[in-house]
Amino acid sequence: MKPFAVLTALLLCLAVPATAFAAKGHVHGTGTLDVAVDQGRLAIDLELPLDAATGFERAPRNAAEKAALEETARVLNDAATLFTPTAAANCRVTSVEVTVPFLEGKGAADGHADIDARYRFECATPGALKGVETSLFRHFKRLYRLQAQRSGPGGQGAARLTPKQPALSW
Ligand SMILES: [Zn+2]
Repeated sequence: MKPFAVLTALLLCLAVPATAFAAKGHVHGTGTLDVAVDQGRLAIDLELPLDAATGFERAPRNAAEKAALEETARVLNDAATLFTPTAAANCRVTSVEVTVPFLEGKGAADGHADIDARYRFECATPGALKGVETSLFRHFKRLYRLQAQRSGPGGQGAARLTPKQPALSW
C-alpha cells in the first residue's frame, strides 16, 4: 500500500507543474508589459499575442492578412502614440524594436505567436515621472488585458491594465 501511495503522490506532483505550464502559455487577448525606471531611463517591454492584434497567428494567406501584419508593425513602431509617460517628466523616445511574427517570413513553431516590442525613453525630469498610459487597447480591440509589472525608485509593483484602466501609476 505504502509504495503505491508514494507513487500516486509523485505522479500528482509531476502532473501539477505540467498543467500549470499549459495554463501559463499565452492567453489570447492578454499581453504583458514590463516597465522599468532607472534614473532618467524608462524601459517598456511588451509581449502581445499576435492574435490580439490581427485575429490570426499563422503565416498570412492573402493580401489583407499581409496588410494586417504591416499595419500592426506600423502601430507598434509609433512609440510616442502608444505610450504617454507623465508629461512633466519630459520623456522622449530613444529606441524602438518591434518583432511581428510572419512579417518577414519567420513564424512560431508551437502554433502560438507572440509580438515582442521594446521601447526606450529618456526623461529630462525623471523625478516627475509618476506613470505611463497606453493607447494599445484603442488600437487593438481584441486586447482586453495587459498584465503589467514595474520596477523603479518606488520599488516594485504589479497592475492589471484594461481598456477602462489603461494607465500604470506609481
Ligand atoms: Zn495563441
